[in-house]
Amino acid sequence: MNFCEGCNLACDAERCPKCGRKKLRAVNDEDFCLTAQVERRFGDALREHLEAEKIDCVLMPYGTGVYTKAALPLEGYLVYVRYKYLEYVRNIIKEARP
Ligand SMILES: [Zn+2]
Repeated sequence: MNFCEGCNLACDAERCPKCGRKKLRAVNDEDFCLTAQVERRFGDALREHLEAEKIDCVLMPYGTGVYTKAALPLEGYLVYVRYKYLEYVRNIIKEARP
């Protein structure tokens, strides 16, 4: 598995599918990898869940910063976890979503 340091993305390809960079290095277990894009409420719940399991995660807010009339933020999070937990956390997200 390769790793793009620009995008924090683990991928099978020679080239990063996100930014097209060709100089990828081998991923290691401690690298934080982009795991999923989630809505804010889901992200907050996920973070609590992972903290309870002692799994490090980084949630980066993204979005336009535009707020709806109900004052609900539209943006969500990009979730990053260490490579060794990537599949595990992806499965949690898959199962938790309807
Ligand atoms: Zn990239």
